[in-house]
Amino acid sequence: MIIDVLVEININKKDKTFSYSVPKELESEIKLGKRVLVPFGKQTLEGFILKIHDTKPDYELKDIIKVIDKEEILNKELLELGKEISDSNVCNLVSVYQAMLPRGYKAKAKETIKDKKVSYVRIIDRIKANEFLKTSKSTKQKEIIEKLLIKDEKTTIGLSSNIKILIDKGLIEKYEVEEYRLKEEYTASKVYELNEYQKEAYNQINNSTKDIIVLNGVTGSGKTEIYMTLIDDQLKLGKEAIMLVPEISLTPQIIARFKAHFNEDIAILHSGLSDGEKFDEYKKILRKEVKIVVGARSAIFAPFTNLGIIIIDEEHSDTYKQETNPRYDAKEVAFLRGKHNHAKVILGSATPTIESYARAKHGYYDLVKLEKRANDASLPIVNIVDMSKEFKRNNPMFSKELLLNIEDRLNKNEQIMLLLNKRGYSSYLTCQSCGTVRKCPNCDITLTYHKTSNMNRCHYCGYAENNSNICPECKKESMKLMGYGTEKVEEELHKLFPNMRVLRMDMDTTSKKGSHKEIIEKFMNHEADCLLGTQMIAKGLDFPLVTLVGVIQADTILNLPDFRANERTYDLLSQVSGRAGRSNLQGKVIIQTFNPDNYAIKLSKNHNYEEFYNEEIAIRKKLIYPPFTFISLVKVGGRDFNYTIKEANKIGEYLRRKVDKETVLGPSVASLSKINNIYYFEIIIKYKDKEHMISLLNEVKLLTENNSKIHVEFDINPISL
Ligand code: ADP
Ligand code: ZN
Repeated sequence: MIIDVLVEININKKDKTFSYSVPKELESEIKLGKRVLVPFGKQTLEGFILKIHDTKPDYELKDIIKVIDKEEILNKELLELGKEISDSNVCNLVSVYQAMLPRGYKAKAKETIKDKKVSYVRIIDRIKANEFLKTSKSTKQKEIIEKLLIKDEKTTIGLSSNIKILIDKGLIEKYEVEEYRLKEEYTASKVYELNEYQKEAYNQINNSTKDIIVLNGVTGSGKTEIYMTLIDDQLKLGKEAIMLVPEISLTPQIIARFKAHFNEDIAILHSGLSDGEKFDEYKKILRKEVKIVVGARSAIFAPFTNLGIIIIDEEHSDTYKQETNPRYDAKEVAFLRGKHNHAKVILGSATPTIESYARAKHGYYDLVKLEKRANDASLPIVNIVDMSKEFKRNNPMFSKELLLNIEDRLNKNEQIMLLLNKRGYSSYLTCQSCGTVRKCPNCDITLTYHKTSNMNRCHYCGYAENNSNICPECKKESMKLMGYGTEKVEEELHKLFPNMRVLRMDMDTTSKKGSHKEIIEKFMNHEADCLLGTQMIAKGLDFPLVTLVGVIQADTILNLPDFRANERTYDLLSQVSGRAGRSNLQGKVIIQTFNPDNYAIKLSKNHNYEEFYNEEIAIRKKLIYPPFTFISLVKVGGRDFNYTIKEANKIGEYLRRKVDKETVLGPSVASLSKINNIYYFEIIIKYKDKEHMISLLNEVKLLTENNSKIHVEFDINPISL
């Protein structure tokens, strides 16, 4: 028997497999999609079995060392899926297979994760044990037997001498049980009957003949309840379901609702779990112990074999696109898996992406709408405050209106959420004398001051330095902090409202495992009056006592040079507004901005997505942006500036020669960035014929992948430009 193995090593050659012979005694374990250990030059490497055959080459083959997996960790569908993804995303197959598996399964895992075993002792023969109780003189041993007659006991590593004696006497025995690591407790939540609007939407989805359905429901319209009903139907048919949620901040509430509805039939996969926990959750799926997975992006690769439905909640979220290699889009993967399994894909959102909504409107997908909140709650009233006027009145951070409303909610004992999409203390440091702005030495990015640690940090590479007021350029003592982030807002809030209990949720306060859940639960239990945070707090959370939402600066995203800036702003404002007034209490939203006339900001007042869509699609059409075209990026990175720009230019020329009508932009100096001391040049391609462009980019990949002085990455439909 001979097998072809894709080894887990970053060789530049495109997805080349290597043949190995299999010793007779291992043949029965060989299956496609399992991993094997193989000799590779002087190393020992892991690899995936991609082919089993008998064709001997005319050279001597080496034997494999062993078969790693008991189960086929990549089933046939996933093996096939990997090829499709690597092709359509112009990336290496092995990187896709690696992305499919939780880290505990990867070759480069810091420590190999094993099944967690717990030892117990139990009585062998109850009659003998009872006799022993009558005859024995050792009270200690009798106590042990008495306990064990009621219940088996967990044992720690070292067995006590009495237990050893009892084992030797043949009265008791030790046995091992595998235990799953994840043991989070979730407060059970209520299960509802669908109301008439939800029923109508549910029926429309069931009657749809399309493979993909956009469920566009305003915030609080009860989409989750519909998802659960749809999953129920699939379970009754013996099928499985994947439910994707955008961020881990969202999962505690969703999981609580899913657990209340489905009991133990769920595996959970998200970045907040330890490697061991992920390993176990994944195993539950492989062993067919669960039929549902709830998780973030990578849960789309759950190794189910009989999928009935895939649901993507908050489908507009950026987090579904992976921003490092392989840059796959979980939505695209969902469409592929939907096709393989004849499973419907549901895209749920109050603010779908312009692309998805356009496809739904043009009949490629079906469109189902939910325009009312589920529990008769009304949508919040939104006020937009012009901060340039407040600025003149010396209120740079909080407008008068926001302050008055905060005070009012505190008096009424209701809750407040405040959003600022910038963490840290201040935005940047600048020299009042020479104008120098403090930047990261590795990246071309301004540093952010963090007060708790008195350090300046780069939010890209993690670089950190002690803060100093001496300018590194002119050496004068004149560095000053400008702008502000969540840390500073928190400090100001404490000054203004000393009795207000504030919880801050951003990357800095949630780095510890379980801290998300802790903050959310505290706020839910009304142990705080105000939840202040970055976009982390904007999506999906459901707190009945929140009646005021304040957006401290709506312009943070608007000013980014990206054609999706308006869409993102509208999404964020609608999502965060949706956190207000979700119960019988009327909600209010105050949006502070320097651009009160911008359409994305203005229209977020009305909770009417269609209105925004109409404005936005007209602009996209005029400027020929997606969905009227596809966009891809070629990123050329290298340490040597001159060499890299030369190679990037060559790629640009190559592409320009091959396409006529399509536009190839760059590489230009404007696109230059420096991250971790590597220079990056970008080539932007706008095109209509997707298939053709992908095949061209695959050509570029082949032509450049043997050049070790540069590395070229492809980003198909990037989330930011
Ligand atoms: P969405 O995901 O659309 O923002 P949710 O599913 O979170 O909305 O539902 C909003 C709120 O309405 C939740 O508190 C939920 O428990 C409640 N809810 C959902 N469906 C019903 C129903 N049929 N009857 C009463 N309350 C409901
Ligand atoms: Zn940096």
